[in-house]
Order: sequence, then C-alpha cells, then structure tokens
Amino acid sequence: MFVFVWRFYVVTQTESQKYVYFLYLRLNLNSVYSLLQWEEVSGYDENMNTIRTYQVCNVFSANQNNWVRTKYIPRRGAQRIHVEMKFSVRDCSSIPRVPGSCKETFNLYYYESDADTATKSSPPWMENPWIKVDTIAADESFSQVDLGGRVMKINTEVRSFGPVSRNGFYLAFQDYGGCMSLIAVRVFYRKCPRAIRNGAIFQETLSGAESTSLVAARGACIPNAEEVDVPIKLYCNGDGEWMVPIGRCMCKAGHEAVENGTVCRACLSGYFKPAQGDEACLQCPINSRTTNDGATNCVCRNGYYRTDSDPIQMPCTTVPSAPQNVISSVNETSLMLEWNPPRESGGREDVVYNVICKSCGGGRGGCTRCGDNVQFVPRQLGLTDSRVFISDLLAHTQYTFEVQAVNGVSDQSPYSPQYASVNITTNQAAPSAVSIMHQVSRTVDSITLSWSQPDQPNGVILDYELQYYEKDQTEYNSSIVRSQTNTAVIRGLKPGAIYVFQVRARTVAGFGRYSGKMYFQTMTEEEYNTSIQEKLPLIIGSAAAGLVFLIALVVIIIVCNRSRGFERADSEYTDKLQHYTSGHSELTTQSLKYYSCSLCFQVTPGMKIYIDPFTYEDPNEAVREFAKEIDISCVKIEQVIGAGEFGEVCSGNLKLPGKREMFVAIKTLKSGYTEKQRRDFLSEASIMGQFDHPNVIHLEGVVTKSSPVMIITEFMENGSLDSFLRQNDGQFTVIQLVGMLRGIASGMKYLADMNYVHRDLAARNILVNSNLVCKVSDFGLSRFLEDDTSDPTYTSALGGKIPIRWTAPEAIQYRKFTSASDVWSYGIVMWEVMSYGERPYWDMTNQDVINAIEQDYRLPPPMDCPSALHQLMLDCWQKDRNNRPKFSQIVNNLDKMIRNPNSLKAMTPLSSGVHLPLLDRSVPDFSSFNNVDEWLDAIKMGQYKDNFANADFTSFDLVSQMTMEDILRVGVTLAGHQKKILNSVQMMRAQMNQIQSVEV
Ligand code: AMP
Repeated sequence: MFVFVWRFYVVTQTESQKYVYFLYLRLNLNSVYSLLQWEEVSGYDENMNTIRTYQVCNVFSANQNNWVRTKYIPRRGAQRIHVEMKFSVRDCSSIPRVPGSCKETFNLYYYESDADTATKSSPPWMENPWIKVDTIAADESFSQVDLGGRVMKINTEVRSFGPVSRNGFYLAFQDYGGCMSLIAVRVFYRKCPRAIRNGAIFQETLSGAESTSLVAARGACIPNAEEVDVPIKLYCNGDGEWMVPIGRCMCKAGHEAVENGTVCRACLSGYFKPAQGDEACLQCPINSRTTNDGATNCVCRNGYYRTDSDPIQMPCTTVPSAPQNVISSVNETSLMLEWNPPRESGGREDVVYNVICKSCGGGRGGCTRCGDNVQFVPRQLGLTDSRVFISDLLAHTQYTFEVQAVNGVSDQSPYSPQYASVNITTNQAAPSAVSIMHQVSRTVDSITLSWSQPDQPNGVILDYELQYYEKDQTEYNSSIVRSQTNTAVIRGLKPGAIYVFQVRARTVAGFGRYSGKMYFQTMTEEEYNTSIQEKLPLIIGSAAAGLVFLIALVVIIIVCNRSRGFERADSEYTDKLQHYTSGHSELTTQSLKYYSCSLCFQVTPGMKIYIDPFTYEDPNEAVREFAKEIDISCVKIEQVIGAGEFGEVCSGNLKLPGKREMFVAIKTLKSGYTEKQRRDFLSEASIMGQFDHPNVIHLEGVVTKSSPVMIITEFMENGSLDSFLRQNDGQFTVIQLVGMLRGIASGMKYLADMNYVHRDLAARNILVNSNLVCKVSDFGLSRFLEDDTSDPTYTSALGGKIPIRWTAPEAIQYRKFTSASDVWSYGIVMWEVMSYGERPYWDMTNQDVINAIEQDYRLPPPMDCPSALHQLMLDCWQKDRNNRPKFSQIVNNLDKMIRNPNSLKAMTPLSSGVHLPLLDRSVPDFSSFNNVDEWLDAIKMGQYKDNFANADFTSFDLVSQMTMEDILRVGVTLAGHQKKILNSVQMMRAQMNQIQSVEV
C-alpha cells in the first residue's frame, strides 16, 4: 500500500521574493469524484513525518477514469497560474501480472468559474469543459512496495497556465489506470515586488499572462529626487523579476543620495550641493557659510562677495586695497602715472585700475571732473597694467588723479574703490593741432579758408599761421599768411591750381603743431563765370526769409560782382547784412576810429544766412530741416541741472550709432504743453541748428517723436557765465577774462555775419565749458512775448518784453533791434565779466536806468578793469548805433590786447571822452562832505581815517587820483574794502569830471 499525505501550505514569500503563494491547498474530499475513487490515506514522508496523500491504484481494471478536484481557488488578480505537484508513481513493470493498460502518468486540468458553483457532477468530469494543462509523467517511479514508506520516491513537477480571467478556478487530476499518490500541490502566481531602482519607487506589479510577457510599470521619484530622463519605467517579466530599466531620478540640489541610493538626504550644516546629481554634498568654500540644512549654496560672510560669474565652489572674495606708490612724471600737458599693485588683491585675480581725473583750482572753487577731451593711453578705465599715459590736459592747471584698484566685487562693497591719489600741475604748452580746415569760398585767384580752434588751445590764441604751396612744389617754396581769427583769405594764387595748406595756432607758449596737409584748388576762369550764373538763383532760394531782404541781397551781389573787389561802403543795409572781413583790418585801440562805411560785403558761395523758422508756413518743417532727429534710445538722462523756460534742463549722455558717447545738456518740454508752446520751444533748436561756431552753443539734435520733447546740446560744465563768475569772484587774470570776452565777441561776430540778431545777449545767456570757453546760447524767443510775466528781468514794452539793462536805447524806444543793439548788450556783458557778475546798474530801477542813459550816463569801470576795456565798453554804448564798433572790430581789438598785455595794465582815470560815467546812486556825492574823514565815514570805511591821514591823502583832489596801489599802500588789505574804496574813488572822479564839464 502507498501512503499519501496532503501537505498544508501557507501563503508566504520564497527566499528569492519573486513568488507569492496565494493559497494553501488541501484536496477537498467532498469535491473528489471518480468512477473508482482516489482514496485519502495517512502515511509518512521520507523523513518519517506524518502526511496525508491521495492515492489511486486500479491497474488491474481496464478503462479507469479517476478524478480528484481541488476546492474553488480565487484568482486574486493573477493572470498566469503556476501549479507545483509532488507525487509518486509506481513502475508498471514492477507490478506482477499487470495488464498492458497500466499507466505511469496522470493529467492536470483546470476549470474557470466566477463563483464556487462546482458539484459532484458539474462541471462534468471530462476534457472540455475542463481544460487540460498537461500530462504529467514521473521522473522517477518506484518498483517495490515498502509498507514503511521508506523507499518512496517523490517527484516534483511544475506547470503553468493562463491567461485566466474569471474570479477563480478549480484544478483536477485525472488518473486513467496508474498506481500513484498525490502528496502535495502548491498553486501560486508571480509578481515583481515593490522596489527602488534608479532613484524611483516601483510598486508591486503582477507578472503577465504569458511566461514571456513583460508588464511595464511607471516609477515615481523618491522624496527630494527629481526626474532626469523620462519616462521612468521598469518591466516585470514572467518570472517576477524586474528588468530593462528606463529613465532615472536623481537627488535634487541640496540633497545627496545615501543608503544605496534609496534615500535623498538634505546636506548637513556647512555643506552644500549646488545642483541635482549623484554627487555628494560639498563643504562650504572659504569665507562662506550655510544658513540651514539642505543648502544649495553657501552665502558669503560679511565683507566678502561673489560676482555673478564666480563659480559657487569658489571661495568668497573681497575688494582690493589701494594701489601703492603712485609716481607721476609731468611733461608739458601730459603725464605718465605709474604705481605698484595693491597689497591685498581681495583673493581675486581680476584686479584692474581706473584713473579719475579732477581739475582743481580753475573751476568753481573745488575740483571738478575733467572733460572728455583728456586722453588716456591705453585707456582710462579697466587698466590691466599699472601705468597710464595721460595727455591733452590744460596748461598751467592743477589736477588730482585718483588711481582706483577695483576687482570683480568692487561694485558690491560700500568701501570700494580704494584709491591712491596724486596732485600735479601741468606746465606751459603750445596749442594742439587744428584738426579741421575747410574751404569757405574760392575765386580764380583766391581761396577763403576757415578752421576750427585747436581742441587744446592751452591758453589764449594770439594768431594762426597758414603755410601753403603749390602741390607740385615743396615746403621750401611755401608762403606764410598770418590771421588773428580762424579764417583767412589767401590771395594772389594761380587760376585752377591745387595748393597744399597747413595751419597752426600760436599762444604765448609758442606755435602748436601744424595741422595735416589739406588740398584746395582755385577756380578756372570758366568755372568762375559759370558759378556766378548759378549762384544767383541759389542765393535767392536760400534767402526765403523775406522778400525785401531778397531784393537787397540780389542788388548787393550784382554790385559786388561788378566791382570784383567785393567791398563797398553801405549804410542802408546795416541792420540786415553783416560785415564779413578776412580779419586783417587794422584798428587802433586808442582812437577806435571805426570804419564809417559800417559794412563791407563779401558774398561767397559758402556764405550762409540765418533763416527765421517762423517764416516757414509749418515751423515743424524748419525743425526737420535744421535739427537732427535723435532716437530716445540714444539718450540717457542723469540729473536735473536747471530750470528752463519750458521745463527742466538735465545733464545726460548721448550715444549716437558709430560715435563716441558724449556728455550733453537736455532741455525738456514739460507735459501738458499747447501746440504753440511746442512750436516756440522747438524754434530754439531750428535757430541753433543753423549755427556752427566754436563760440556758439552746438545743437546735437532734437527728440520729437517721443515724450517728453527734448532739445539736446553740447554740455557746458561750468554752467552760465554770470553765476560762474560770481562763484569765482576775483580768481581769474585779466588775460583770462579778456579771453572769455574774445570768445563771446567771436561767437557774436559769427551770428551777426549770419544776419542773426540775438536781442538778449547777457552773461546769463553765455555758457562756459571746462576749458573756460564761452559760448553764446539761449536762442529762444518766448521770453520776449507779451504774455510771459514770470521773469522780472524782462520788462513789458510796446510790442514785447525787453531786458532793459542790457538793451540799447533805440531798441527800448522803438524796437530797433540790430547787430548794433547786440553790440550795446555786449558792452554790458563786458561790464558783467569784468565785475565778476555784478548786476548792471546795481539796484537802480529800470526807469532810472532809462533816464540815466538818456542823459548820457554810463556804467563806470569795474574794480581792476583796465581802462582800455572800459573804453571799449563805452564805445559799445555809443548813443548813435552807427558809431558803435562791429563785432569783428571788437574781436580784433581784444586780440590786440591779448597780444600786448601791457595795454591792459593802465587803470588810469577815465578818458576824457564824450561819455560821462554813470553816477553810482549807492555811493554818496563827495561834494556834500567837508573833508575826507567824513567821506570815509559815509562810505562806511571810517576805520581807515588814520591810514589816509598818515599817507597824506587828506584832500578830495588827492583821494580822487588814488589807484589800487595807493589804496594798498595806505594799508587796506581786505579785498572787499579795497573794492569799496576804489569804487568810491572812481565815483568821486566821475563826479568831479561831471562838475568840470558842467562848469566848462
Ligand atoms: P536756459 O533755458 O537755456 O536758460 O537754461 C537754463 C539753465 O540750464 C541755464 O542757466 C544753465 O544753468 C543750464 N544749461 C542750459 N544749457 C546748458 C548746457 N548746454 N550745458 C550746461 N548747462 C546748461
């Protein structure tokens, strides 16, 4: 007999973790059915454990069909079912007299069902409805019966089937004539367990329906990890094994992988991890620290910095200390600066140097930044070598240079840049070279040239020397022409010949370098004749300003052409056309016999005439014609520097494409303007845009296509002349003041030549740049308008507003504004300059001023004013405007004074001219006092009574002759007191002269 025992199985996982047994199984007796039934028998296994088996052995009967069936087994989601069977089979040959029908195999079936509905007779015991899985044969059988079970040989076979889809199933074993026992059956499915692979969690996944199936599972990153490649997948195979990993997750910044990559842990304090990845957290670089766990970077400690481009692993750095041992070597107006690197580089390799230039002493008291004209080689900022060559400085000027050491983090530190400074004073130097020369006009035998002033005059320009020779000749055959202005007519040339020209400027320091060679050609006779025919309509066309003016011009041209000498006395057109001179006319300072013809014309092809923008039907047309439109993106406003008629005036930068960035002044039109205000505002640009002269403010352009509307001009560092002089009272030499006056006169000459009448020439309308160059500005017209009452300087008069103190009597009385009335105003500007910004006629009322002028009173010489200059002022204030000098004569006159500084030494009593000095109402009349002491008390200088007495200045006669030297000699040392006494002495002198002339 065989003994079979059913084993008892529990759901458990195997050692490899890939199986899950989902049921324990005992063959259910109730469910066993067969024709000759399987028997449940107790016995022992090979280890002598008691077991229950199912056994059948009906080999001697034919046509066996014995079935045994399991109880209902829920499927639990599995798609493929595995069945492991342990059984024993008797070897047929070992059974004596066994018939041939003896079998050594049995069949395995399954039947799917959604519920446990099987009965003894259903499903029927036959293939279909049962599905056969396989015929199972033993690997080993046994041939001897051992009742003790010790020789029993147990086979183990596994079969699987699928897909299964119903809620559960039954298994059945069919014997058809063998001798065997079923010892144990295990039924299971396979699944891939929950796993962490490549930084992602994959949930438990059941194997597929076929043994070759691969079931895809999506993974999710573990906490603090992020996907690197997507999708993140693993495949579960039929054996319950994960395979073919795709994609991965990695620990994010501030976290590192630990525990075999299954956990992303935050970096500990003092450590950081800047980016996602497999790397471990790093220790913080030097001078940095973390503020919490899980740091992605380390912040710099106080006083230490990083640039945007510094790697995060780099130590934090700090600013460099100042450069050391700055050494300067000055050569005329240039210098070499050299220094040693700073002691501390701040821990960086990118230390560079900036050199800041400040000019001191010449400006408004303190130091001001040098202008753009100073040159630095190789450059001013970002120097890598510790040396720089600086040139184009002003002569005789004090400068401070700050050499800054900066590195990549300097802009982050409040204590940077550290710098070392050095003070230098430049020496005397010749002017720089003239850069541009152009042809104004030419004839068959002459060429008229003009050129710009050198960028660095390094002093007052005395004259220019023009060297020229025929192109085929050499410099040895050159001729020389001198000119006191920046224009010259070279005569006596050959027709149609090319000449080489070079020009150089001269100051007291000598000649500057010659300009580059420039070639100009005289006209051939034929060209000349043709040009005259063409010129007429051209000039007529450009002079659209007025019909009367046109007719006048044509007449003049015809007259001039006829005479070919281009000179003709004229008086009729004095107010319309201006004197054009080659600058060679000789005038004596003392006699001041101005040409009585007043005007001599030279009409040349290049001559330009000013066009009033209001003669345009559409004034916007004038703006378009004379002012360049600038795109607002080129303009950078920096700060407000003043208030203009129409809005704020700002400083800023202008960077036009292809040009160097320049510092500019920007006048804005405040919002809410009317169309008329816009037109009036822009009219200034239409006027300014027609001018091109070194002493007239230069228009860069306008912004009209965006808001606010702007007028952009060159920037004048020292602002307006009146306040500049007031801030620098007494600080300039007479030659410097005359240099300024010369510039203003030159600008006015140019404007007068253009037929432009300024009408508001005053020191407040002159701007001064960092080189002390004065430029005429303020071409706005609106302040003359009747309805503008904001500025008391401009007094309402018939037909508009007038700045009474600056305006000639005929302009006040009957609005006769001409260049001659501008000359009157120029005389007032001279007085303002020489008195360092004193208000003309002090606090007299406008009506008193008008009356005084009418009675031939004139302003007295300011303190320290050379009599030659005061004489020139008086000439400008001639009642008859025809007797006033022309601007060209004023320029010549001033040039002579500059060339001959001795002529400025004389501070003699007033010349006995026809003009009487104005009585200064602030100084009492000396004749009302009995003696000098009383007079000194009256002028509040009583403390000097003894000084005067000790020096024998005891009578009015003696006191009235006192000079500045005398005042110094008597012991008046305070500048203010000297000025007060000198003023009063001059008043006394004027009062005496007046008395004498009345007596005469
Ligand atoms: P304006 O409207 O022309 O009288 O200008 C008002 C003020 O702005 C002037 O008094 C100057 O102080 C200042 N300003 C005007 N134009 C310039 C300039 N080009 N450069 C420097 N300052 C200027």
